[in-house]
Amino acid sequence: MREKQRFDRLEQFRIFAAALVVAIHTSPLMSLSADADFFLTRVLGRIAVPFFFMVTGQFVVSAFPECGMARVLNYVKKIALLYGAAVILYIPIGIYAGQYKNLGISDVLRMLIFDGTFYHLWYFPACIIGILIVYAASCVMRRNKMMILAAVLYAAGLFGDSYYGLVEELPVVGDFYEAAFQLFSYTRNGIFLAPVFLLLGEAASSGTKNKKRAADARILWAGLAVSFVAMTEEAFLLRHFELQRHDSMYILLVPVMYFLYKILIQNTGRGTVRKKRPGGVQRYLGTTATWTYILHPAMIVIVRGAAKVTKLDLLVENSVVHYFVVCICSFASAFMIAVFLDQWKGPVGGRKRQLLLQQKKSRRSRAQERQESREHERQESRAQERQESRAQDFCLGRAWLEIDHEALQHNVAVLRSKLPADCRLMPAVKADAYGHGAVLIAGQLQKMGVDSFCVACVQEGIQLRRQGIRGEILILGYTHKDQCALLHQYHLTQTVIDYEYALQLNSCGVDIHVHIGIDTGMHRLGERSENIKKIMAVYGLEHLIVDGLYTHLSASDTLQMYGRAYTSLQAEAFCRTVAALREQGYPCPKLHMLASYGVLNYPELAGDYARVGIALYGVLSTKEDTVRWQEELQPVLSLKARIAAVKVLYQGESAGYGPAFTAARDMKIAVLAIGYADGLPRALSGGVGSVLIHGQRAPVIGRICMDQTIVDVTGIGDVKTGDTAVLIGRSGSMEISVCDIAAQAGTITNEILSRMGARLERVMV
Ligand SMILES: *Cc1c(COP(=O)(O)O)cnc(C)c1O
Repeated sequence: MREKQRFDRLEQFRIFAAALVVAIHTSPLMSLSADADFFLTRVLGRIAVPFFFMVTGQFVVSAFPECGMARVLNYVKKIALLYGAAVILYIPIGIYAGQYKNLGISDVLRMLIFDGTFYHLWYFPACIIGILIVYAASCVMRRNKMMILAAVLYAAGLFGDSYYGLVEELPVVGDFYEAAFQLFSYTRNGIFLAPVFLLLGEAASSGTKNKKRAADARILWAGLAVSFVAMTEEAFLLRHFELQRHDSMYILLVPVMYFLYKILIQNTGRGTVRKKRPGGVQRYLGTTATWTYILHPAMIVIVRGAAKVTKLDLLVENSVVHYFVVCICSFASAFMIAVFLDQWKGPVGGRKRQLLLQQKKSRRSRAQERQESREHERQESRAQERQESRAQDFCLGRAWLEIDHEALQHNVAVLRSKLPADCRLMPAVKADAYGHGAVLIAGQLQKMGVDSFCVACVQEGIQLRRQGIRGEILILGYTHKDQCALLHQYHLTQTVIDYEYALQLNSCGVDIHVHIGIDTGMHRLGERSENIKKIMAVYGLEHLIVDGLYTHLSASDTLQMYGRAYTSLQAEAFCRTVAALREQGYPCPKLHMLASYGVLNYPELAGDYARVGIALYGVLSTKEDTVRWQEELQPVLSLKARIAAVKVLYQGESAGYGPAFTAARDMKIAVLAIGYADGLPRALSGGVGSVLIHGQRAPVIGRICMDQTIVDVTGIGDVKTGDTAVLIGRSGSMEISVCDIAAQAGTITNEILSRMGARLERVMV
């Protein structure tokens, strides 16, 4: 979730940066003061383009160098397509502006490769050249050497830009620049400007993964303030001494950008966005910024034309008005394009499939709608019944889990409805079905027609078989080769972790069914997607029967820029591998990519199976995500415990281990028969967590023990030994969700659920 907020801020800043670029090209403050305009457009404005490079760097360069050429080319192709579209768009405007008169071949090449075919379009080839340079460097040197190279290039660029006056007259150097300017008009291009900021984007973002290293926000703000003031002075001095040939590169721009970017992606800063629901307008911001960049010069032409025709001179003569009019027109048209592209393309290509799905949907839709509304009514009455019945206890034990059969059934239906008919659920029932009880859950699912499951290890598979679970059981993790016989004996399907592992499995000499794991970017298990030869070799092993191939997505939990880009790269890599195998005649029977978030965010990537885990249990990893899907998914599990004792704690007495809690006044406390050995995180000690008793909240006091927990029940009437406390779930009108507990314990729901203790009883209600 933090990740998301950070990326949101990046996206928002892209809009600001686009507005700055418009300012550079319209000089809004010109009619007020030349100095003010210089500051806005030549100092502040100069952060815009480096910022765009840094965003690209964060996402592209961080994928080097393991990624292989194909991935780099893929990025380059995308930028080139956009550039191509922009070039075509500006041909008529360029002709109208008289830019394309008397062009020789060399001029055309210079424009296409360096200068751009219109004054702002240099950015796109610069991006491509920068990426290629950084990529080439990454193949032959380490990161710090790359940084030095980029710095040298940037320095060379400086002397062709705002420091030109210092070298212009020098014998050799001056000639060098003169020659270079035959090739390109400015040194602010892909060779000199882009590499340093591409690398800086990656460097600034990589530190934040490590919390301890995340710098103090105050230091960052101070760094930004100091370097920005100094850069302003640098710029005005250079102008004063008339050293500038062009004014887009400053020495201090580098630290300014570093601090700025750090602040934008830090989660400790004050500006953290608290968005309930990512998506909405948010998801168009990136594309809107890009198209604002592309379109604004056209809008400048149009606004000028309109001013002439309507004789509204104010539109042009007042630079502030002019700026805002151009901004509004550019943003509005860019936003429309962003919405249009989003509708048309969907999150990850898959255009045809989506159209087909839409057609199918509209055919089914009416009957379905009617059915859905009936279903909805039924659900509501059921939910009410359920709530009433929950008031009773279903267990005589000390602490137990209640598994809501109908919620499970409901979630199965919801997840199935998101997937095409030919994609089957392969629920993840690993870690005792995320604490819910694997045998219990798998048994229920089997009755709902589910006939494939995935687990983490061989023991989990055997447990299910022994309890009568049929169908396919896929082991997602490592199994020692000495346990191969068990795989065979219990008809368990094993994941091929990589080629070396396949050789070990094969050496056991018994036939084993396998799915080949393909690593497309998670870099956990699976053979690397580009190692086609090794993957083919797995097919050749005589004891392995390949039933399928799958990959695991590492960023499908977000629809923001990063998630989309990474997910589409992973999906493409997987498809490429499958296509290469098929081309060579290797069968690919079952294919699958999606886990829970994949199903919810990228259903168009559905294959033959969806390995749903957390969503099936009706919660998502974090509160924010759960809120988003709450109406659709219902939590399956409640955690309850018995009150073992109720007593008075007199003022000044302490309760539990150590002096962690001392009563400030006389109070009533209850001791619950549940502790951290049952999966209640000890981090909820000392008032962090609370439980529900008779529909009221009772805070945890003191330290949670291994088998007991003490809560404050002062003010809750009629509490007695044997009553029930709710730790997760509803009591009266109150509810504590797994998400609440995960947030209190500083983790995700998956961890809380999968650590539910073995000695809890599990009962189906
Ligand atoms: C755990 C796991 C899943 C299920 O993940 P959820 O996010 O809980 O749906 C799917 N695939 C693999 C490889 C897993 O390890």
